[in-house]
Amino acid sequence: MNTTPEYDVLIVGGGMVGASLAIALSGHGLRIGLVDAFQPGDPGQPGYDDRAIALAYGSRRIFEAMQVWPDLSGDAEPIARIHVSDRGHFGFTHLSAEEEGVPALGYVVTARRLGHSLIARLRQCADVQLIAPAQVQAVWSDAASAGIRVQRGEETVELRAGLLVAADGGKSFIREQLEIPTQRWEYGQSAVVANITPSRPHDNVAYERFTDSGPVALLPMSEGRCAVVWTVRDEHLDEVMALDDAAFRKAFQERFGYRLGRFLKVGKRSSYPLSLLRARESVRQRIAIIGNAAHTLHPIAGQGFNLGIRDVAALVDVVLEAQRDGADIGGDDTLQRYAAWREGEQRNVALATDGLARLFSNPLGMLRLGRNLGLLAVDLLPGARHRLARGAMGLLGRLPRLGRGLPPGA
Ligand SMILES: Cc1cc2nc3c(=O)[nH]c(=O)nc-3n(C[C@H](O)[C@H](O)[C@H](O)COP(=O)(O)OP(=O)(O)OC[C@H]3O[C@@H](n4cnc5c(N)ncnc54)[C@H](O)[C@@H]3O)c2cc1C
Repeated sequence: MNTTPEYDVLIVGGGMVGASLAIALSGHGLRIGLVDAFQPGDPGQPGYDDRAIALAYGSRRIFEAMQVWPDLSGDAEPIARIHVSDRGHFGFTHLSAEEEGVPALGYVVTARRLGHSLIARLRQCADVQLIAPAQVQAVWSDAASAGIRVQRGEETVELRAGLLVAADGGKSFIREQLEIPTQRWEYGQSAVVANITPSRPHDNVAYERFTDSGPVALLPMSEGRCAVVWTVRDEHLDEVMALDDAAFRKAFQERFGYRLGRFLKVGKRSSYPLSLLRARESVRQRIAIIGNAAHTLHPIAGQGFNLGIRDVAALVDVVLEAQRDGADIGGDDTLQRYAAWREGEQRNVALATDGLARLFSNPLGMLRLGRNLGLLAVDLLPGARHRLARGAMGLLGRLPRLGRGLPPGA
């Protein structure tokens, strides 16, 4: 068995969250290792598939500060307005970029396209060593370092670092090996996603529509297309996936209505089972858990990655502050500061997302009346709407340097 030199930071998971962390930490004299089961750019890497990602305005700021945005911006479709409604009922609310004084509330881009920009930027980071394809098979930590055992082809290597970051996704091997307890909500639902072309221009409006069978989102995309996220109960999933294109367009038209005219064309469909998971601890000795490994959300509010990139921004602040002050970047004090910072927002976003998913999937009359009144109240009270918009843009609470659009660590 080989042993390799130490790293300062070892990141497990080169998905959108882990790759972002490596880029944001680069350039500060740290020796960074990034481990993933897939070679960067491998079209089979599941985190970089064709799902549409709504990036909050706050995430754009972070990508600007990380110098990822210039490469991405040309393919990111702005969201000028968000329209939230309850299908066939009176409640609705709307949010607008103009009212909030921002160029866009957010941007829509596919995970695949975002992956191209992240990997291109990663290749400019000479201090990040890519260890891929490599499968992590064991993890441990002691007072001095954290370590992993990695299978790389025929070879097994041990890698150690002062700080190990688990960004290894919803089924996190590291979280499971450390037996970190989790809170789980199962929905018995799946998200069916596809691109669809409506006969009317989308005018950069994102629609969130609640229906008896679950929420439906339609996000504006380039070339006049929209991304569908249709929540389907598991017992209907096979039926919906088996529909031919014409029948799918018809069924979706019935759910969504005719606000964008007729749906003319639909692309390839994929489905994702939905559950919500939250790790009860986000740090252990010399280990931090971030992104989907720490919290996997229902995609109803498009917050999963946006929450993960805010983990990245906060972790970068505490690590670079510790480094600047000559403190231990993987020490308890540093990690506890990270955990305390992120605890509130992670809990609030998980609870709010779960509440929305349940409330708006429930056809009971009183609940429906309540939620319609709630939507109307949000619409009529500018203060409430403004707060909702700031939350959706990821601009509430204490913002890390990257979240304020500032370069890390300066
Ligand atoms: C249908 C759908 C729509 C969504 N829409 C939005 C949206 O609009 N906005 C938004 O913000 N979020 C959205 N999300 C959520 C978003 O996609 C996720 O939050 C994000 O992709 C998580 O990234 P991650 O890097 O944490 O995890 P992952 O993408 O899962 O990456 C984990 C990485 O770790 C690697 N790995 C795992 N185990 C090991 C191991 N043992 N050894 C080596 N490598 C390993 C994997 O290869 C992978 O590359 C959506 C999700 C879905 C399903």
